[in-house]
Amino acid sequence: MNNNFGYAAYDAHTPLRPFDFPRREINAQDVLIEILYCGVCHSDLHQVRNEWRGATFPIVPGHEIIGRVIETGGAVNRFKTGDLAGVGCMVDACGVCPDCQSDQEQYCDHTVFTYNSPDKHTGLVTYGGYARQIVVDQRFVLHISDKLHPAAVAPLLCAGITTYSPLRHWNIGRGDKVGVVGLGGLGHMAVKFAHAFGAEVVLFTTSPAKVADGKRLGADEVVISKNPEDMQKHLQSCNFILDTVAAPHDLDQYLALLKRDGCLCLVGVPDHSHPSPSVGNLIFRRRSVAGSLIGGIRETQEMLDFCAEHNIVADIELIAMQAINQAYDRMLKSDVKYRFVIDMSTLEA
Ligand code: NAP
Ligand code: ZN
Repeated sequence: MNNNFGYAAYDAHTPLRPFDFPRREINAQDVLIEILYCGVCHSDLHQVRNEWRGATFPIVPGHEIIGRVIETGGAVNRFKTGDLAGVGCMVDACGVCPDCQSDQEQYCDHTVFTYNSPDKHTGLVTYGGYARQIVVDQRFVLHISDKLHPAAVAPLLCAGITTYSPLRHWNIGRGDKVGVVGLGGLGHMAVKFAHAFGAEVVLFTTSPAKVADGKRLGADEVVISKNPEDMQKHLQSCNFILDTVAAPHDLDQYLALLKRDGCLCLVGVPDHSHPSPSVGNLIFRRRSVAGSLIGGIRETQEMLDFCAEHNIVADIELIAMQAINQAYDRMLKSDVKYRFVIDMSTLEA
């Protein structure tokens, strides 16, 4: 084992602080990455506060990782030293089940998540991207174009793919009216992608201060969701609504905005489930409520290539590693414009 260094949550109640931990030796298929930037996802906050339960502390969060390859195992053929590389939410899966075989590794029963997942190599848990280095099997490493700023590309590895994948799965494009609920890390990428795919985009936000940004990011209209009269104007008009909110809330107010056969897709993962929606809101227009988890590796590469081609990146606030706890506090107040990204050069040994 080698030494690694990063920031960890030691328990669910105290601020993150420096942590020394082991990094496994590289195997034949592995890539060793020196981390340059790591995005800060609301999932990191849910996990370090143990809101999803089952956390194993210390947790080194971070699954929006951009770095440079500094060493490769003997059988690595997809990367070489010096390449820019990305790692998202997964670092392994079984490889043989129907989900893995159809490039949907995120739905495999044996997905190994980038942090706080059992690590078969070390017998410990996996440690994520708030760190100096990471070792990952090449099958779970993404190629990153050098056309875009790597700090602004980092959030694509989770916020990007988690919104791109459902919009593609439900074939969103020209002629569709798409609602996006919540303008945070995921929501702002959803607005950009839905707009880029040619849909009419309506953003639903609880924050009046975000109206102008919502339009700048690609929304045709921005609605303050606390205002029932403005919500009424969109009754039965959307084909698809992507709900990115990180807290439990009433789903019926959004179901009512769907046309016949419309779908409300949940990607936010609050600590407690939303109240169950009314059956009447579902059956009378054959509406559905669905969910979606990140995206497979093949689709993540497709999304990154699409972004490089269309010049799409996240809007970010670059922070020092030491500012992570303040960043979490701001995230809890829905005050992020629109993704914090840690500049890993600020990590001191
Ligand atoms: P974020 O940056 O904090 O954005 C969440 C947004 O939700 C806020 O900016 C806010 O937007 C809105 N919101 C409204 N009421 C809220 C409340 N009471 N508490 C918090 N937010 C509220 O979070 P994110 O990183 O985009 O993540 C969003 C959710 O998706 C999290 O639960 C995260 O764990 C989950 N997630 C899921 C997947 C997946 O694969 N399904 C992947 C990544 C993350 P307005 O100010 O516009 O109302
Ligand atoms: Zn995430």
